[in-house]
Amino acid sequence: MSDVLNFDETCLFCKIIKGDIPSAKVYEDALCYAFRDINPQAPTHILVVPKAHIRSVAEISANNEALVGHMFTVIAKIAREEGLEEGGYRVVSNCGPDACQSVPHLHFHILGGAKMAEGMA
Ligand code: 5GP
Ligand code: ZN
Repeated sequence: MSDVLNFDETCLFCKIIKGDIPSAKVYEDALCYAFRDINPQAPTHILVVPKAHIRSVAEISANNEALVGHMFTVIAKIAREEGLEEGGYRVVSNCGPDACQSVPHLHFHILGGAKMAEGMA
């Protein structure tokens, strides 16, 4: 069981962080947790989430920018360890309904392992 800095009892990713819902863990430290996406959109598809119930990119502010910066250090480390650095990878965060965000807890998708389509950034 992990410490969550502040969590929402109804949130799927808060439950995953706490271990109440099982997940395929890739990495964990005091501030963030990474696990494999249940419905992978690429050969490697990992989600990186903060151990705090930040709802989306829209809630990033001076209060949590150090945490978010740390998450990007972790993203680069995971990509290296997963062997994605040479081929490259995409980091995505869907924010709000137009972007089809389906889980309201900030997460960065790491997608790699195959050549992606151009478009959508
Ligand atoms: P979003 O659509 O919000 O950007 O991304 C949410 C992601 O969470 C989706 O890619 C979806 O497959 C993944 N997901 C949803 N429920 C679960 C779950 O219970 N376990 C895992 N590992 N991934 C999940
Ligand atoms: Zn949450």
